Amino acid sequence: GPTGAGDLLAGLNPQQLAAVTYRGPALLIVAGAGSGKTSVLTRRIALLLRQREAWPSQILAITFTNKAAGEMRERVEGLVGEAARGMWISTFHSACVRILRREAEQFGFTKSFTIYDSGDSRALIKRLVKEHEADAFGMTPSSVQSRISKLKNELTDAEGYARQANMSDPAERIFVDVFTDYQRALQKANAFDFDDLIAQTVFLFRAFPQVADTYRRRFRHILVDEYQDTNHAQYALIHELTRPVSAAAPDPYASNGMMIFEPETAPAEPGASLTVVGDSDQSIYAFRGADIRNISEFERDFPGAQVVLLEQNYRSTQNILSAANAVIGNNFDRKAKNLWSDKGAGDRIVGFTGYSQHDEAQFVADEVEALRRAGMPYSEMAVFYRTNSQSRALEEIFIRAAVPYKIMGGTKFYERAEIKDALAYLVAVSNPADDMSVRRILNKPRRGIGDVTETSIARFAEEHGLSFRDALAHPSQLGVGPKIRAAIARLDAVLAEATAIMQPASGEIPSATSVAEGLTVLLEKSGYYESLRASRDPQDEARLENLDEFVAVARDFARNNPEGTLVDFLTEVALVSDADDLDDESGSVSLMTMHTAKGLEYDAVFVTGVEEDLIPHRISAGEPGGPQEERRLFYVGITRARKRLHLSLAMTRAQFGEVSVAMPSRFLQEIPADLIDWRQSPGDVNSRGGMQSRALNARPGGGFGGGRDRFGVKPLPGRDQLKPLSTSMDKFPNKVTAKVRDNGDLELTAGDRIRHDDFGEGRIEAVTGEGAKRIAHVRFDSAGQKKLLIKIAPIVKL
Ligand code: ATP
Ligand code: MG
Repeated sequence: GPTGAGDLLAGLNPQQLAAVTYRGPALLIVAGAGSGKTSVLTRRIALLLRQREAWPSQILAITFTNKAAGEMRERVEGLVGEAARGMWISTFHSACVRILRREAEQFGFTKSFTIYDSGDSRALIKRLVKEHEADAFGMTPSSVQSRISKLKNELTDAEGYARQANMSDPAERIFVDVFTDYQRALQKANAFDFDDLIAQTVFLFRAFPQVADTYRRRFRHILVDEYQDTNHAQYALIHELTRPVSAAAPDPYASNGMMIFEPETAPAEPGASLTVVGDSDQSIYAFRGADIRNISEFERDFPGAQVVLLEQNYRSTQNILSAANAVIGNNFDRKAKNLWSDKGAGDRIVGFTGYSQHDEAQFVADEVEALRRAGMPYSEMAVFYRTNSQSRALEEIFIRAAVPYKIMGGTKFYERAEIKDALAYLVAVSNPADDMSVRRILNKPRRGIGDVTETSIARFAEEHGLSFRDALAHPSQLGVGPKIRAAIARLDAVLAEATAIMQPASGEIPSATSVAEGLTVLLEKSGYYESLRASRDPQDEARLENLDEFVAVARDFARNNPEGTLVDFLTEVALVSDADDLDDESGSVSLMTMHTAKGLEYDAVFVTGVEEDLIPHRISAGEPGGPQEERRLFYVGITRARKRLHLSLAMTRAQFGEVSVAMPSRFLQEIPADLIDWRQSPGDVNSRGGMQSRALNARPGGGFGGGRDRFGVKPLPGRDQLKPLSTSMDKFPNKVTAKVRDNGDLELTAGDRIRHDDFGEGRIEAVTGEGAKRIAHVRFDSAGQKKLLIKIAPIVKL
């Protein structure tokens, strides 16, 4: 009965309560940021368990990142204790991997299949593009990769695509060939790419209704967070899982020609109860195929669905929320929301215009230290940016200022060459059919095996129907010289030894630390470690450290999963996503992209690079709906803040080896001016030159030294070199609004001549827009044509 549930329902508002206690087939919770969507999901799960309405094994909860899954699991366990064990709380990808590992043998894969990350799949596509000479039709590996990815997200396989394509077009034929060969190569390698994980699970369910029924019977409650960012394949997966058990007739459209079983006669059962939560204002993955219609059409797709709206925001102070509401209000084609907070106005938003990105970073570091001194822990602060490359300036300054930080985005670590090599060694053990991995390590470290030998091995494997790995066991039949023969034999022996440790013959139980042990054997006995130790390249020292770190990851894994196998370890590593940081040190500031920030919250947030061409990003300009998606992304960024929000930008930004003059983002103009407190830099260096001379100081690496340190990061500027940049701001106060330079009344018409601080003299060609958004179209005498926002541009009429 409902006894003992009081604490779970305490403090919920009436709408939240309705959502937590709803019992029925389908529930949609739509609400703005910070209104408790994720909390409601968590409580719903806890209540189901507490009241014994469901066993843990009957619950499937889908979150956007593994980190979010971990947090949700912790919270549920905190609420109901041990009873929570056995729930599936995971990302779409992790859930599908679990299903595929169990069922892989049904359709020609083995349990130990490899998961190709985007780099792996690009490498494979690159080879196929070359083989098919697809570049002659303007296809690049990455364009083909993203096309294939889109098709898979739409659940279109190569055959399906061929049926609808115009096959008289040679470019189309070639693309179909590449797609088909790509899929064949994956199958042969016993591998799935990321998109396959979802798409193949859907295909599996459609082709094998009996298999699907097992999962339909099992999961009685399915809950999905961040539903606005699901793509079609994910949508279809949810659809498959929530179908009534008896209605699971064989799908006539199952397209992969697999055998279809008659469904067993089993008692009819209604579909699982589905709860989805989302916010269409936070849909930021359209570029990956996310489809906002999954939300807007939910009621049609799931008849009888209950809809709950949440309007109170419990996260942020009113000033932050008002800014967020004002910004998102500029998107058309959305339902107005009335998000409010009772936390009081709170501090005003802090605005800062740095002179360069280093200056901006210095502001962030200074502010972080000030907050820290005021008692806020580093772990409650986060810095966001639009593109990964922006983190470099921040890191430089943070290292200098000794501010502890971590970059959220574990993928970076796993993208390093040495880590990919180590992984390839492990995959060669776990999945010997994966030729790509074996080829990768063939000559790493150098053992004299070149292209010619690789081709001979490939040919031998082909002729004898062996995998590349198996061919290594026959060095004397490969037609190679004695030295190479010995090298191949040694590699084969090392792989065999590691296999015996990590995957002992059936019956024997591998020890918990077998993965770390096997990894060490591979790296030592293959000579990989030795080649790095012998090197005098300082980068190799960093590589050694990274490999040590990786071995430590394997040890941690053993500690946390005493029964974990090599395959489990590789799965975990493959699914580390952007938001999943490697180490869990709490005392550091988190740096991440705005995409990664989704769903998270911090006391203090710094959104950096709030400039045109960054947010909204340049590439969004040409995309339909692009600028609107960028606005949603900015909305996601600012709604992460509980108490303090900082918006900063740099006047000049070095990017792609060029210094460009940045314009404040249009989104800044959309925030009511009285909500932002524009900061002045401290210091008083009147003697410094104007903008022009400082622009020269700020050129990339200007005065910062030329070389790079072993992290590939340029050496840091000396304090003395840095200071002038951050203290010479008084002439150009840090304001982008009218308060700095209000040209609001400046009368300008075509034909007028003006002077701009940076671009020199020029002639007005036209004036468009109105009020604060008046734009001058100027042809400068030497700087070319520019569009300037009159109100804030550093211009005078001549
Ligand atoms: P987002 O859209 O950013 O994912 P969300 O809607 O999922 O946000 P939550 O993260 O669940 O929101 O909640 C935001 C904050 O508000 C959390 O700190 C949560 O603990 C708190 N919160 C939610 N509901 C309540 C409530 N009824 N009373 C007090 N605090 C609440
Ligand atoms: Mg949430």
